[in-house]
Amino acid sequence: LFVPLGLLMAAAGAGLVIWLSRRRLSMRGELRIAIRRRELYLHYQPIIELDTGICVGAEALVRWQRPDGTQVRPDLFIPLAEEAGMIAAITDLVIENVVADMRELLAEDRSAHIAINLAAEDISSGRALKVISQRMAGSGILPQQIWLEATEHGFLDIDRARTMLAAARRAGHSVAIDDFGVGYSSLQYLQQLPLDALKIDKSFIDAIGTESATSPVTPHIIGMARELGLWVVAEGVETEAQLAYLHSQHVQFGQGWLFSRPLPRDEFIAFHRKRQQQYGAAREHMQNPR
Ligand code: C2E
Ligand code: MG
Ligand code: MG
Ligand code: MG
Repeated sequence: LFVPLGLLMAAAGAGLVIWLSRRRLSMRGELRIAIRRRELYLHYQPIIELDTGICVGAEALVRWQRPDGTQVRPDLFIPLAEEAGMIAAITDLVIENVVADMRELLAEDRSAHIAINLAAEDISSGRALKVISQRMAGSGILPQQIWLEATEHGFLDIDRARTMLAAARRAGHSVAIDDFGVGYSSLQYLQQLPLDALKIDKSFIDAIGTESATSPVTPHIIGMARELGLWVVAEGVETEAQLAYLHSQHVQFGQGWLFSRPLPRDEFIAFHRKRQQQYGAAREHMQNPR
């Protein structure tokens, strides 16, 4: 009985592997078609200035809804796109959509910005920067209104990353290191790269105000960013307790479900205007962020 059972399990295992790789392959094909048909679109998650409560902009987050109505999460299809050489096409679509969706709002509020996520290849090729400047031309959007986010994954070739990020800053953009704290050699990157902002990974924010207490590392990350003159953005803020802690640590910006989920264009614009009316006065006392 033992042998046939083993064989059966091996066969089932092989079947599963084949099924999974078929699924990946077919998802790849679907994604290629979705890009061609421009079925990807953006949601915008507000970024809040913690001192004033005002909305200083948003992070553009790509969305893919298949024709059958199901959503595919970006942390699934972005890596797939990277593997399959489709990421540049996605980044192009993202840039094009940001300009089309946001030019009005960005003209109306010159201190607002939109952050775009860059993949490793976008950084090593430097192509995204050219696409941004081409798309921005004539749009009325100012370069300082486009921020770029890059994770450590994008810094594997540190010399190229430095060159590209320096060029981005010369062009007037601000550069943020994304998901900070979860990689291997974060500290090295902090020293070597031309950066404007640091986004603390959600995992450090999750730990605040829970029974397991704040991660002992969190205040050091915040302190280090301050020493280096970087803006700090906390991502994944979900509770008042987290907000109170971040405020006490003088973290400038926050993003998370406590303020808002990522929103479709029109809802984000309405959110932004409402916040402006509600909290605009508080800002008169504050210095403008870059
Ligand atoms: P990310 O750049 O770190 O984006 C933040 C993610 O955290 C978003 O997930 C956002 O919806 C989620 N988030 C924000 N606040 C909260 C919160 O309070 N609670 C919880 N549970 N989640 C929160 P999303 O949109 O699923 O994107 C996942 C990742 O996919 C992004 O992480 C980014 O790495 C990648 N991604 C998204 N859009 C793009 C894009 O246009 N280009 C590239 N290259 N990558 C993208
Ligand atoms: Mg990001
Ligand atoms: Mg992030
Ligand atoms: Mg993250």
